[in-house]
Amino acid sequence: MRFLVDGMLGKLTRWLRMLGYDVEYHNALNDEELIAIAGREGRILLTRDLDLYQKAKNRGLNALLIKGRNEAEKLAELAKTLKIRLEIDTAISRCPKCNSKIRPIKKEEIIDRIPESTSRFYDEFWICTKCGQIYWHGSHWRRINETLKLARKLAGEGVESRKTGESSG
Ligand SMILES: [Zn+2]
Repeated sequence: MRFLVDGMLGKLTRWLRMLGYDVEYHNALNDEELIAIAGREGRILLTRDLDLYQKAKNRGLNALLIKGRNEAEKLAELAKTLKIRLEIDTAISRCPKCNSKIRPIKKEEIIDRIPESTSRFYDEFWICTKCGQIYWHGSHWRRINETLKLARKLAGEGVESRKTGESSG
C-alpha cells in the first residue's frame, strides 16, 4: 500500500512514513499533476480537498478524503478504511523527512553527530539510508506512542484484537 499525500497533510505524511508506508508528498503540484502521479504509480491519494478527491474518484483512482481534526483521528480513519497498522516497527519504518528506509546504526559511528546528552541517555539509533538523518527514541517517543494508542482506540481496535492478531473486518 503506497500513498500520495497532498500539501495539506504534511504531518500525516510523516506519521505514515514512521509506520513504514511509502508516502510521496507534494505541496507545489496542482490537482492534475497529483492525479497523474497517483495513477502512474498506483498510489492511494490522501487529501483534505473535496474537489481533488472527487476528480480522482471520477478518474477511477483510489482516493480517500481525510476528515480527522487531529493526527489520531486521521490515523484512525486510515486504520478503519484501509486497515493500516497503528504500531511502529523500526524494522520497516521510513525516514519521516525523505521517505527512504532507515537502518540501525551503532552509537560509536554517529557519536560526533548527536548532542552529548543524547549519547548519554540513549543507546539505540537509526540512520536514514538516503538523507543521513539520525533518529532515536527521544523524549517525543512517549507522545508518539500515546497518539498511536489513541488512534487505535478511535479505530475500535482494542488491546484484545491486537493480541489475537488479525481483525475480522
Ligand atoms: Zn531521510
